[in-house]
Amino acid sequence: MNQATGSFAAAEGEHIAAAVNLIKTYTQGQTEIRALDGVSVGFARARFTAVTGPSGSGKSTLMHCMAGLDAADSGHVVLDGTELTGLSDRALTRVRREKVGFLFQSFNLLPQLTALENIALPLTMAGRSLDHDLLDHLVGVLGIGDRMSHRPGELSGGQQQRVALARALAARPAVVFADEPTGSLDSRSGTEVLELLRRSVRDLGQTVVMVTHDPHASAYADRVLVLADGRIVDDVDVSTDSTSSAASAASTGYRADVIRGTRTVRRAG
Ligand code: ADP
Ligand code: MG
Repeated sequence: MNQATGSFAAAEGEHIAAAVNLIKTYTQGQTEIRALDGVSVGFARARFTAVTGPSGSGKSTLMHCMAGLDAADSGHVVLDGTELTGLSDRALTRVRREKVGFLFQSFNLLPQLTALENIALPLTMAGRSLDHDLLDHLVGVLGIGDRMSHRPGELSGGQQQRVALARALAARPAVVFADEPTGSLDSRSGTEVLELLRRSVRDLGQTVVMVTHDPHASAYADRVLVLADGRIVDDVDVSTDSTSSAASAASTGYRADVIRGTRTVRRAG
C-alpha cells in the first residue's frame, strides 16, 4: 500500500463510504460536461444522508460512482474498506452484490418473479442464504407480509418500492443507495417509504444515501448535501441543526483529512 492510499484509508476509517476528489466528464458532441468537478465526501455509519441539488448537478453520477455502478475519471472511492478505483468489472460486481443495496425510482423488480423471489434474488446470486428472522422482521415492518407471493404487476407502486426496500435491506448491505426513491410514488406512499428508510437507519443501523430533488424527502435525512454544477456547495447537519458551508466544513476534522489525502495523492501522481 503506498503512502497516498494509506493516508486515504486513515481518512476513510470513520466512514463507511468515502470519495476523494472525484472527477467525471461526459462528452456530448463537441461539449464537455463536468458531471463531477472534484467531489470529496465521507458518509458516516448509521446515518441518513440526502444528496440534493438541481437537475443535472451530478447527484446520480456521484451515487453511481460511489456505488460501483460507474467509474470516475479520477479520484478515489472507498466502500466499507474496499478501494473501488481500478477494480475490474467482475470485482465491482462482487462489491455491489456484497456491500450495496439499491433503491431506484422505477423499483427495478423482475416482473416474472414473486415479491419473495425478488427479495431473495440478490442473496441467491451471491451464494448467500436468506436470514429468515430478518426477513420476517422486514416484511412485518414494511407491511408486505401478505404480498409475498404476488408479482410486481399485482402490487401498487408503494408496495413495489417496499418490496425493493426489503430486497435492499435483506442483504444487510454496508450502504443503501437510493436514487429518487419516491419519484414515481404518490405523496402518501412516498412519505411511507421515507419513514421506512429513516426507520432502517434508526432501528437497524443501516447507512442510507438518498439522491432527491424533493425538499420534503430531504427533510427525513440527518444530513443534506447540496450539489451544483458537479460540486458540493452546502453540507447541512440536520440532526443537530448546525449548518456548515462547504468552505467552513473544509476546516473540520474529516474533511481536513480528505483534503490532506487528496494533496498526498496529487504529490504521489
Ligand atoms: P442529476 O442526477 O443531478 O440530475 P446527473 O448526475 O444525472 O445529474 O448528470 C450530471 C450531468 O452529466 C448532466 O449535465 C447530465 O446531462 C450529464 N450526464 C449524465 N449522464 C450522462 C451520460 N451518460 N452521457 C452524457 N452526459 C451525461
Ligand atoms: Mg439524477
